[in-house]
Amino acid sequence: MTETSETETTAEASRTVDASATNGGDRYDVLVVGGGVAGLCAATFTARAGLDTVVVDDGGSIVKRNAHLENVPGFPAGVNSRLFCEMQREQARRSGCEFVDGRVTGLRRVDDGGFRAEIGSGGDDSKDGKADSVDADSELEATYVVAASWSDTSYLDGVGVDLRVAGSKTYVGDDGLGRTNVDGLYAAGRLTERYHQAVVAAGHGAQTAITLVHDSETPFYNDWIAPEGYFTDRGREVPPGCEEIDETERKRRERESLETMRSFFTEPHPDPQPTHPSLVDDE
Ligand SMILES: Cc1cc2nc3c(=O)[nH]c(=O)nc-3n(C[C@H](O)[C@H](O)[C@H](O)COP(=O)(O)OP(=O)(O)OC[C@H]3O[C@@H](n4cnc5c(N)ncnc54)[C@H](O)[C@@H]3O)c2cc1C
Repeated sequence: MTETSETETTAEASRTVDASATNGGDRYDVLVVGGGVAGLCAATFTARAGLDTVVVDDGGSIVKRNAHLENVPGFPAGVNSRLFCEMQREQARRSGCEFVDGRVTGLRRVDDGGFRAEIGSGGDDSKDGKADSVDADSELEATYVVAASWSDTSYLDGVGVDLRVAGSKTYVGDDGLGRTNVDGLYAAGRLTERYHQAVVAAGHGAQTAITLVHDSETPFYNDWIAPEGYFTDRGREVPPGCEEIDETERKRRERESLETMRSFFTEPHPDPQPTHPSLVDDE
């Protein structure tokens, strides 16, 4: 699990990599296509399990069109959905994920069983004010891919994944736990035709990630933080992927949590409310 420093603040820029810099470099364990609700939750879980995880996202999560998010656990009076996206991204960053702001335009298998993704500069500055940070035609490789790219399946054309077309929508088939029919390729969120609510997408992202972790060689099962002695005082080993922390460390983490949440909730979110693209006057 990645440790975070007490001095880290939410103002710190996300660890964003230039995809062109990864060409010929080490392969990631996990590429998550789409940093919306499902993708960021999946990436948080795979990164916390110790898998090198990169998220490629073009900034267009549909949840940003929501006017006030009121059914996500943990926000008793609701939360601005653009703020929610930023908080989720910060959680993924603290868990150790890297980010590429761009669009996956193609995916293909490579000889040893992993995948190579083509990345274009598909970020939409008008949606969230993020600048693109990748050159078109750059590529990166990963052993596993999680497709969480509601509503784009075009980059999957070359890998033979099962798709279901329903009117204007195309869904990726999965086995109920996030595995597709293509070995090493997983899918999460609305892209898999799960119900269209944020918490369902997040939960499915987590489920898909845990499936992937179990399929990999990582000895990881739970991702639980328990108080000191919870397992060991009963003569048990701390299970793989679990952690026992003492009271000093618990208090340190609680302080960091309070500071972090305060920094997110100081002012109303500055981004404008987006609506359906068909209602936007481009003139
Ligand atoms: C107006 C509106 C209001 C809503 N209100 C609520 C609500 O109140 N409560 C609730 O629970 N749910 C609400 N929802 C639904 C909720 O937003 C979705 O169910 C949820 O966002 C689905 O999560 P997801 O991760 O599957 O997709 P998304 O959150 O849309 O994430 C997909 C991500 O993939 C990226 N992407 C797509 N293709 C590519 C590619 N090729 N390369 C890189 N990145 C790519 C997109 O830019 C996006 O960031 C609302 C939706 C709308 C439209």
